[in-house]
Amino acid sequence: MSHVFPRHTKADLPIAVAGDGCYLIDANGKRYFDGSGGAAVSCLGHSDAGVTAAIQAQVGKLAFAHTGFMTSEPAEALADLLISQAPGDLDRVYFVSGGSEATEAAIKLARQYHLERGDSARRHVIARRQSYHGNTLGALAAGGNAWRRQQFAPLLIDISHIAPCYEYVDRGDGESRYDYGQRVANELEAEILRLGPETVMAFMAEPVVGATSGAVPAVEGYFKRIREICDQYGVLLILDEVMCGMGRTGHLFACEADGVAPDILCIAKGLGAGYQPIGAMLCSRQIYDAIEGGSGFFQHGHTYIGHPVATAAGLAVVRALLDRGLVQRSAEMGETLHAALVARFGQHPHVGDLRGRGLFRGIELVADRDSKMPFDPALGVAGKLKKAAFEAGLICYPMAGTRDGRNGDHILLAPPFILSEDQIGEITDKLEVALGQVLPGE
Ligand code: PLP
Repeated sequence: MSHVFPRHTKADLPIAVAGDGCYLIDANGKRYFDGSGGAAVSCLGHSDAGVTAAIQAQVGKLAFAHTGFMTSEPAEALADLLISQAPGDLDRVYFVSGGSEATEAAIKLARQYHLERGDSARRHVIARRQSYHGNTLGALAAGGNAWRRQQFAPLLIDISHIAPCYEYVDRGDGESRYDYGQRVANELEAEILRLGPETVMAFMAEPVVGATSGAVPAVEGYFKRIREICDQYGVLLILDEVMCGMGRTGHLFACEADGVAPDILCIAKGLGAGYQPIGAMLCSRQIYDAIEGGSGFFQHGHTYIGHPVATAAGLAVVRALLDRGLVQRSAEMGETLHAALVARFGQHPHVGDLRGRGLFRGIELVADRDSKMPFDPALGVAGKLKKAAFEAGLICYPMAGTRDGRNGDHILLAPPFILSEDQIGEITDKLEVALGQVLPGE
């Protein structure tokens, strides 16, 4: 009997014993192709020698120094490197241990920024219905996933949710992509006006939506309009790139493709690439200055912020991404993967949409392609697909997401950037086997 408290208490999980490039190996020697990098984490695969060496060297030199007393060389170097690459005027980095800690810190930083400026009425955060920002209470309140929120609703702060930018499901017949983007972006302005502009502190969104809907980018112009609205009303823009950041979409930061820079940016997953738990919140000079020139102290903190071994791993990961051209590779292999998915599944009667950017790809599954009608949730399509793919030796990330309040199943693919063209074939072959078992095309 296992004493580990797994996520799915009834699941009989195999024991992972080794990693080899894009593969995980279980105790019986079975190899699984990691087609989703866990949950868009393992961008360098599972046996990167450079990151492993960097971690070993750091542990041998300095395992831990509490940031209340001292900083460390890897934390300083990683912050410098991230800022040298960051969009807009992002200028300071606050290291945490994962994605929820990053988004949680972002909400608190936004509040404190306004307080330091004497704007204490600003207390509302606006987010989107199609979103996931983490599982701690503040992050959970910001996310729109009804299933995750349900049990904890009485504990959540009041955050309002506007429409996502989800073209496949919501763009009207005859409405141009641009007009659609402007229409849904303008919901932010309407919500700010409804709440009272002087009470709104921040808007939070994922540039490419991950866990709740499977790699959904916004249409062109959407985030530019969001940025405009935020600027007009003094609302901070928080972009959550925990899943879509760090090269996953073919840009180091996903928002580069949208031509906007946030006031606060959250990253995690790909930053540690699974080698260490690490996340970060980057903030603009203006925010930092408001706090430095005010109380001088961000009222937040965790024991392991800026952990030397975690930041050493992050530093080795970001250097690998940049020095080995892996961000560009994510862009190029992403196109190859997309073409392979279109060729194999583009005509499948239950594949409604193939989308994404870089090596962040989503497959939306529907009961009927013409009406885009989702499957009855009672069929458990996503769960069955996950199981069938796993048995075929493919780890992918199928989810019974919510489509803006409705149900919808999709599969998220986020393989390591080091995958080969043959391995793209392996993904599509195994996915075809799984789809054939769960959703045989009529
Ligand atoms: N934000 C986004 C966009 C995510 O996808 C996730 C995790 O999936 C989180 C935040 C939470 O990150 P973590 O699980 O590391 O706390």
